Amino acid sequence: MERLLDYFVPEKYVLDFGINKFNKKTFGVVNVNGEVINETVKFHAVKLNIRQVFVNGKEVEYETEEETLIINNVALGETEFVIVFDGLLNENMEGVYLSTYDYNGEIERIVATQFESHYAHEAFPCIDEPEAKAVFELKLTVPEVEDEVVISNMPVAQTKKHTKVPDGKHVVFYDNEGKKVADKYCEYIFEPTPRMSTYLLAWVIGKFHGKTITNEHGVEITTYCSLVHDVDSVIFANEIAARSLEFYDDNFGVPYPLKKLDQVALPDFEAGAMENWGLVTYRESMMLVSADATLGTKKSVALTVAHELSHQWFGDLVTMKWWDDLWLNESFASVMEYYAVDAIHPEFNIFEGFFTGDCQAALNRDAYSGVQSVHQEVRKPEEIATLFDSAIVYAKGARLMLMLIRLMGWDSFCKGLVDYFNEFKYKNTVGDDLWESLKPYASFEPRKLMHAFTDRPGYPVITNEGDDFREFSQKRFLLDGGEMTESDWPLPKITEDMSGHYILNLSEEEFEDRLNNFDKLGLEEKLRLLIDRDLITKSGLVSADCLAPLAMKFKNESAPAVWNKVAGLVGNLKIYFDDESKDEKLLKKYTFNLINDKLDEIGLVTRDDDDEDMIRLRANLLALDYYAEDEGRLKLLDEMYDDDYMKMDKEIRGDILCAKAYLEPEIVDEFLVKYKEIADPDVKFDYLFAACSVRDEKQAEKLLALMGDYKMVKPQDQLYLFVYLYRNPKTRMQAFEWVCDNWELVKKMGGEKSLNDYPTIIGRLARTREELEKFVDFFGTMREDLVVARAVEIGENEIRARVELIEKDGERVKEAVKKI
Ligand SMILES: [Zn+2]
Repeated sequence: MERLLDYFVPEKYVLDFGINKFNKKTFGVVNVNGEVINETVKFHAVKLNIRQVFVNGKEVEYETEEETLIINNVALGETEFVIVFDGLLNENMEGVYLSTYDYNGEIERIVATQFESHYAHEAFPCIDEPEAKAVFELKLTVPEVEDEVVISNMPVAQTKKHTKVPDGKHVVFYDNEGKKVADKYCEYIFEPTPRMSTYLLAWVIGKFHGKTITNEHGVEITTYCSLVHDVDSVIFANEIAARSLEFYDDNFGVPYPLKKLDQVALPDFEAGAMENWGLVTYRESMMLVSADATLGTKKSVALTVAHELSHQWFGDLVTMKWWDDLWLNESFASVMEYYAVDAIHPEFNIFEGFFTGDCQAALNRDAYSGVQSVHQEVRKPEEIATLFDSAIVYAKGARLMLMLIRLMGWDSFCKGLVDYFNEFKYKNTVGDDLWESLKPYASFEPRKLMHAFTDRPGYPVITNEGDDFREFSQKRFLLDGGEMTESDWPLPKITEDMSGHYILNLSEEEFEDRLNNFDKLGLEEKLRLLIDRDLITKSGLVSADCLAPLAMKFKNESAPAVWNKVAGLVGNLKIYFDDESKDEKLLKKYTFNLINDKLDEIGLVTRDDDDEDMIRLRANLLALDYYAEDEGRLKLLDEMYDDDYMKMDKEIRGDILCAKAYLEPEIVDEFLVKYKEIADPDVKFDYLFAACSVRDEKQAEKLLALMGDYKMVKPQDQLYLFVYLYRNPKTRMQAFEWVCDNWELVKKMGGEKSLNDYPTIIGRLARTREELEKFVDFFGTMREDLVVARAVEIGENEIRARVELIEKDGERVKEAVKKI
């Protein structure tokens, strides 16, 4: 793939960027200095109108192609380019984009940026490659609107207000309806950034309120939300940010290098969050914690904040040379978030979520032919967007880092990190640079171990060939029916905790032995036993009829993480039963018997003395109880319903709403009104989720009509809506059909990175021949489309394998459930 850095190496951008959010126009002058090393110089520039180009002060001819601006016959050496351009604000949450929210009957307009992975060049011409690090001096020129926040990576150095344009005329700004909206403009001049990549530049303009604190190391942290939210809902994220920065300062050896950190929750946001240096942006649901937020929300916000802030070092201070090493950023941040949150809130037992969530996701995904490796070549620009496979680049990579950290020990690992940051700060690296920095502190070769896992897909299934796995054989584990061939991952040792990215194929005696001594196992050993068994039954190595008796053995268990995996086993059983069939009633009865005693014991309502574990345990059990259609308890939950959401027990609010919608489907109309009106994302989604669980045909139609209704459900949330509806047997096939019929719209509204998610989600859940055919019919035509090709291939393999497994083991599984 052509790299524009091979022609010109930028050192400093002076970017004078004007934005009129009222007519959506942008205009600017970028002045960029650097060294020309090829007589043809190219800049990335997409969706921009180039007006003039100057080289060393002299206007020159230029050409434009689809994605580049080309300037020929440039003399080599130090050169200054000045490019005058204009453009439009995007509305698809990429580049520099417009976002809106309703406040007191008015539409508030926000301008924000999302430049990762390669969307800076939709805002201004630049060498939009991570290795092209430069200093940025940004000046934003905007209509002067009272009480607006205008922030960027660095603090504001100077502001200048003007009532006249340079030629003496008075300034007036009008909106599209011709209404006067401002009669001044303001220039915000920001301090120069450190040397950094284009994808990390950011700015946000609009009406927000926030809170500022200074952490113990003197960094000023301000966290903002839009005016529709209670300003107190930023306090939790502010606090986590302050403590996370201290944690990383203490462990990484290089203190946070900027004077300030801003965090903003944006009403429209494509990803979960973005680690722009000094100005982290978030989806509202990933940052806001209101007084009514559940424990689950607090944890996920804490992890997200800690993740983004670890990127201030890993990603921002030291950056991958090219996108093939994106995992260096993401794998690291995805494990560091757990270490940081564990240090700040040990009572969260946060690592349990890592084992039951990330590790399981990585093991599921990494077991299909065609899955990407953690380190992935990028040959074409379209492939960059497809790299963000969360189960691989994030979850598997994080698991590999955990394996490495545990083999080295935390203190030794950090010593290597300190060296790494000191050597490579403000520079770019490849994976080997990290392994070399860690090597002096490891008793093995980090490079060799990590390459074996990062350069190829998959992981081994290990069979004991001696005592306690001192000798073992290994094969690549596959879930798609492919042949599992001998493999040679260099594993220094096999342990039965959750450290290693492999699974154990225990013999029946070994399995029984551990099961009989279950209480004596550590939590991680318990989880491994269940996770490995779950995968092995899916692969066909062991028949799935063992699942039903196995899950039932845990009916007296109290650990929420174990129940999480027991629920996984039930989920595994569900695929063998047709929705709403007579057989499925048996499975529902089975599920009821599984949870009934435990739920009776702990009760439905949160008690004052309940600890975090108890709250999680109840949540796990109630989810199964809903599946069991346990009318008795659904009625009890329904009695706790209150029209005012603040009067319901917040930890079981979602369950109460689902019970209400189950027993009284007409309530869904009210839920949708509340979804639209309530600002708190946590509460809002409880209503939407409950509405989408409705079993009544007529009400289900109303939910389906929300797909593509971007006024009601924002583009950023349409994927969630699809997931909710696809999970509901009443709306499943119609939701799938809607996506097929409206694919062009989905593409336009969703942003490139989330397109992949549709075939991935369907691949994860579909289980009938009918769905398989539909999948092949529709997505099969996209095999050449690099943005979705891989997700389509894996999705098809996954559904096919599942359909075949059901045909093979189905009858036996049903018999086993009947017997209990
Ligand atoms: Zn990240």
